[in-house]
Amino acid sequence: MAEILDGIRIRDEIQAELKPRVERLARAARAPGLAVILVGNNPASEIYVRNKVKACETLGIRSEKLTPPDTIATDELIAIIESLNAREDVDGILVQLPLPAHVDTRRVLEAVDPDKDVDGFHPLNLGRLVSGRPGLRPCTPAGILELLKRYRIPIAGRDAVVVGRSDIVGKPVALLLMHEHATVTICHSRTSNLAEVCRRADLLVAAIGRAAMLTADYIRQGAVVIDVGINRISDRGQAEAIFGHDPEKMAEFDRKGSLLVGDVHPRDVARCASAYTPVPGGVGPLTIAMLMANTVQAAERRLGVCSASG
Ligand code: NDP
Repeated sequence: MAEILDGIRIRDEIQAELKPRVERLARAARAPGLAVILVGNNPASEIYVRNKVKACETLGIRSEKLTPPDTIATDELIAIIESLNAREDVDGILVQLPLPAHVDTRRVLEAVDPDKDVDGFHPLNLGRLVSGRPGLRPCTPAGILELLKRYRIPIAGRDAVVVGRSDIVGKPVALLLMHEHATVTICHSRTSNLAEVCRRADLLVAAIGRAAMLTADYIRQGAVVIDVGINRISDRGQAEAIFGHDPEKMAEFDRKGSLLVGDVHPRDVARCASAYTPVPGGVGPLTIAMLMANTVQAAERRLGVCSASG
């Protein structure tokens, strides 16, 4: 039986370890502060931001939400970021993506003070990641590494295949795995013989955004599979094709009218892998946990409070 890598359990572990660090900061100076900028009314972004604010509350991190309208100009958004950069009580700044099409996302992300860049998207932090120097790491890739380490899954010397080359997930997770001494192959939409390449993987990471695309054909027997994809399906035929083997899931579909599915086929991964992250409940919860970890780390650095508990 394949082992299920439980992201909720690891999230709880990470948050339990952060709590005394937050308390120590509050005693020594003040609670860490996170500013979240949510532009416009994208419903998915609103849910993500609500969950981030909730996680802050749980840990005692002070959060504030800024909600400029989606007509905001790039320069106006940059002015908001600059005022947050200058504020002593703000340790982390997060700009919820995606931004409206007329906003220059690159310029906006580059405006964030690299020391407050808790999403790890600033080019300086990406450069630190490439060269293996300390810095704030992108949250989802950092969460994946945390999960692998806490489950004691060996990485050094293993063949890792990452499907997806985005700046947010694919590229940074590939770099982190390489720094842990895996031999890494990065695949994308132009990769030839994708299934064949994936079958070489001891460790397969899927960050594609296509529901259940990686079937048994792509998974080596006994591989460890990390499924980053979060895809909502609301077509019954598609749900049946993916979850027809699972009456509980189909009942859930009939109740809710939709289901979440990863980029890896849920039936096939359970059959082929030695261990895998489920969707939901795998990688998703770790992203917010690592955002909290980055905020605490940024606050400790800025306030000169070391991370040792006590
Ligand atoms: P992007 O759309 O930015 O990148 C997708 C990547 O997949 C691209 O590199 C693309 O290749 C590649 N790709 C697309 N189609 C294929 C194909 N048929 N064969 C091979 N490669 C393909 O997505 P993200 O990296 O932002 O996100 C990926 C998934 O992870 C999404 O489902 C997203 O919702 C989820 N996600 C989950 C998070 C979490 O917290 N769990 C956080 C962030 C994302 P190319 O570059 O050639 O176009």
